Amino acid sequence: MESVTLTDRQMQSFRAELLSWFTENARDLPWRRTHDPYCIWVSEVMLQQTRVAAVIDRYTQFIHKFPSLVSLALANEADVLTLWSGLGYYRRARMLHSAAQLLVREHGGSLPKSSAELRRLPGVGDYTAAAIASIAHGESVAVVDGNVERVMLRLTGAEVGDKHLSATGLKEIASRFLAPDAPGAFNQAMMELGATVCLPRAPLCASCPVQAHCRTRGEHTARPRKQMLSKKINYALVRKSQEGNGNSTAVLLARRPPSASQMPGMWELPGLPAKGEDGNEPILRVRHSVTNTNYYVGVYAMDANNASQLAGSLSHVWISSKKLHEIPLTGLARKILMRLDVLAKPRQVRSGKALPGSPSIFI
Ligand code: SF4
Repeated sequence: MESVTLTDRQMQSFRAELLSWFTENARDLPWRRTHDPYCIWVSEVMLQQTRVAAVIDRYTQFIHKFPSLVSLALANEADVLTLWSGLGYYRRARMLHSAAQLLVREHGGSLPKSSAELRRLPGVGDYTAAAIASIAHGESVAVVDGNVERVMLRLTGAEVGDKHLSATGLKEIASRFLAPDAPGAFNQAMMELGATVCLPRAPLCASCPVQAHCRTRGEHTARPRKQMLSKKINYALVRKSQEGNGNSTAVLLARRPPSASQMPGMWELPGLPAKGEDGNEPILRVRHSVTNTNYYVGVYAMDANNASQLAGSLSHVWISSKKLHEIPLTGLARKILMRLDVLAKPRQVRSGKALPGSPSIFI
């Protein structure tokens, strides 16, 4: 692999060019305006398998509600899940919450500084530990996420399945590239390069700051994309007016059982058989992707008088539409209720830059 044989001078040049590009081109993201390890931790957990655009508002709301590790530890889980709604992969939120409680109970309410100690926390893997330790504390440890992996494969020309590129091998190569005097900025620059220039399907090599050091310059497919599965699911939207509560309406929702393997305890619309209501057209069709499955969702309006026909109707609960933002909805339920104007979209009031302790306000 060419990169492994770069001379010290070439390696210095690579780092300098990448860092200079990052300084000039880094996106202005809320978690980049702080070195607070707690804020970086929250952002890195949210960013796992989730698009930056989807994380920005959720992160700002989350830090506004839970500005410190201690405030997160003292929160109840339902409130944490409510703020996580829409990000998916709710196990991340539960692990973040339980790790915060552990840190308050056993470590005086602060995060450890080294990546090795961080790695021992529940839900904190190599990637998150390296990101927090390098960005918040300047530890010289390389971050390898999906973006960095793709950049490394293309830079070096290594093939997927190359025995040198096991997870450990990739980490070793990333460590050789790492700028020892600016590990946090370097790690962020590599991730930014993967996210904005060295794109999965069509890398923008003509704009790449390290093109001169790249072995493949776009002639590398990196890892093949996963085959997506398709699944059809249907839900019922059942509403009724609430007496004595102005013009408010209530929506019938079902709570997923605590034993559910996915999203236990979260609220969703009542399910319908996959064929939907015979002869009726859905009031909404929406596609929802989770991991490697595309869900094709039909939502059917149902009269409240017929709601008892729904399977599991005894466990359904009427929730005031005014209270919907206070309960942990599944991402799909949230998406459907917003598209149908049952749940208000969050309005964001920004005033300058959101800093920890003075974040943007959502109403
Ligand atoms: S030159 Fe192209 S393939 Fe190589 S790192 Fe840059 S964007 Fe990626």
